[in-house]
Amino acid sequence: NALRQAEIKRTKTVCTYCGVGCSFEMWTRDRHILKVQPVAEAPANGISTCVKGKFGWDFVNSPERLTTPLIRENGRFRPASWDEALETVARRLREIAQRHGGDAIGFIGSSKASNEEAYLTQKIARLIFGTNNVDNSSRYCQNPATQGLFRTVGYGGDAGTIKDMQQADLIITIGSNLAENHPVIASHIKQSHKHRSQKLLVVDPRRHEMADRADLFLQIKPGTDLVWASAMSRYMFDHGYADEEFLNQRVNQVAEYYASLMPFTLEYASEITGLSVETLVSAAEMIGQAKSVCLLWAMGITQHSHGADTSTALSNLLLVTGNYGRPGTGGYPMRGHNNVQGASDFGCLSNVYPGYEKVTDPAVREKWAEAWGVDPAALSDKAGADNFKMVQQADKGALKAMYIIGEETAFSDADSTNVHEAFSKLEFMVVQDIFMSRTAEFADVVLPGCPSVEKEGTFVNTERRIQRFYEVMKPLGESLPDWKILTMLASKLGHPWYYQHPGQIMQEAANIAGIFAGVSYERLSGWQSQLWPVSADGKSTPLLYTDKFQFPDGKARLYPLEWHPPMEESDSEYDLLLDNGRMLEHFQSTNQTGKGGRITSLSPNWYVEVGPQLAAERQLQEGDWVRLTSRRGSLDVPVLITDRVAGNVLFIPIHHGKPGVNGLTGEHHDPDVNTPAYKEIAVTMTKLERT
Ligand code: SF4
Repeated sequence: NALRQAEIKRTKTVCTYCGVGCSFEMWTRDRHILKVQPVAEAPANGISTCVKGKFGWDFVNSPERLTTPLIRENGRFRPASWDEALETVARRLREIAQRHGGDAIGFIGSSKASNEEAYLTQKIARLIFGTNNVDNSSRYCQNPATQGLFRTVGYGGDAGTIKDMQQADLIITIGSNLAENHPVIASHIKQSHKHRSQKLLVVDPRRHEMADRADLFLQIKPGTDLVWASAMSRYMFDHGYADEEFLNQRVNQVAEYYASLMPFTLEYASEITGLSVETLVSAAEMIGQAKSVCLLWAMGITQHSHGADTSTALSNLLLVTGNYGRPGTGGYPMRGHNNVQGASDFGCLSNVYPGYEKVTDPAVREKWAEAWGVDPAALSDKAGADNFKMVQQADKGALKAMYIIGEETAFSDADSTNVHEAFSKLEFMVVQDIFMSRTAEFADVVLPGCPSVEKEGTFVNTERRIQRFYEVMKPLGESLPDWKILTMLASKLGHPWYYQHPGQIMQEAANIAGIFAGVSYERLSGWQSQLWPVSADGKSTPLLYTDKFQFPDGKARLYPLEWHPPMEESDSEYDLLLDNGRMLEHFQSTNQTGKGGRITSLSPNWYVEVGPQLAAERQLQEGDWVRLTSRRGSLDVPVLITDRVAGNVLFIPIHHGKPGVNGLTGEHHDPDVNTPAYKEIAVTMTKLERT
């Protein structure tokens, strides 16, 4: 037995699924993952994990893993050496840049890859090709939330930590199915709700688990949350709950903001949201009387045509009630992917360098140019194309090449038929991934990356917490860590980079980007973590805004808003609304959770949720198949009858199907940040005959 124990390797790693950032020991013998062992030292999760972190690792040894580079020849992929594949990529990208300029190429970094890999992705785009055409999947999810925080408080990250959430007098979740999407945070909140008499207010069109546990649940009409939040803010001012001292000392634009709230009476809010005036008053009293409030939101807010405005309205409400800068307060957009926060923090965004330093600021450009050893004129001075614009430009023939790392754009982007057409028009496409994804099927060259357990690096979780993960096992076949692939490619492009270890990449980022000044692999070793902004002496900032907001005068800004209805609503032709989201057991396109084994078998089926009344009206029984048709396309799916949805609202998980739900989503998007309005789909539902 002692001999067997000796063969077992225990390695600290960080979960590769959601933004909670659970860390744990992985016990392995060679490539066999024996178990996942949570430990008390884990800073975000302690001894908790969810089912994905515990059992969602079979994909690592899937026979479907890519193990060699592939080059398309005569319409088919053939294996190639790394040298030939990278030579081909470098030659084709160089040719395209010479003919059309660097802005003819777009880069999408991965929200599953490490911070160091995100850093190198944007460095290749900016330094080698002189373009800011670089983005990541935060465009699909939390970019509107970041915009709301930039407008009001200044930093694009959660105000505090999970511990802060547990200390709050009142937790509000809005547009967030926390128990399925961020299960470990949900379990912490369930505990504080039960044992510390913390109050829970849930606002959502769908009655999910946290709604059932709430002290008050508001089943709001989809797309009307801005009206709710603004009516709450007005109530706070009008009923003596506004924190006058906080507003006087720490907040700008109070009078302008209050004037903008005039339309948002309770009666108006009731008419728009479908909630009674009495229910609205109950919610407002709960918020007004709470000593400290944490407000959590997610895709139910951001994936709308005005998600940035609604995120702003939520942050406004927190400012009005003085709920920033104290333990147990603040705004918390719940980050979806394990490193969607880090991919943005480390510069995979079209308008900022790592650390959110603006590409349009000459002083910033000069600093980065000097650090990278180039003339500032070599770095583009205009914001680049984001994910949405890249697809549009590809469709019009302006974008000639794309380099996509670890993102399933062909499945996850809205209006997928249009995305596929745009990809087909590209002259050249590179996909770097661990599987032959649906996106890789459009590529000319496919490069095999490897998952987090086969490399070292760091991730940033939803708390802004930077954590190291270590190599659990060697890369499979000829696959390589993404940072190595990008370093080798840079060399082929005439930029021999010196990196031998990701720690050197982090050191470079920390030397340049102010918010990472004191971040180092040494300070992150083992179970240690750092929360940005990190001062040069290594001091973290777990709680933001304790003495100043991130604006030149240190004051927050209340931001006046108007409400605009969703761009697509149900009507006489398309009479139902299709809400959509994740399931606990799966993640996004199921490229990881769908590769067989324990996690796949826990929830293998797809369905559409239909409320009991609607099911009765349409004479539907559980298991009947229906066809859902939007203005873009249709899909067939079995029915699940449940009171989680009500009225004319349906719900479908986003993970499965051919086409998936994005065969139905459309071109509507938030004009402020270009995030697709995934949650605004009007559909019809037709019962299919049993065969
Ligand atoms: Fe992984 Fe999120 Fe589950 Fe934690 S809560 S184990 S980070 S999926």
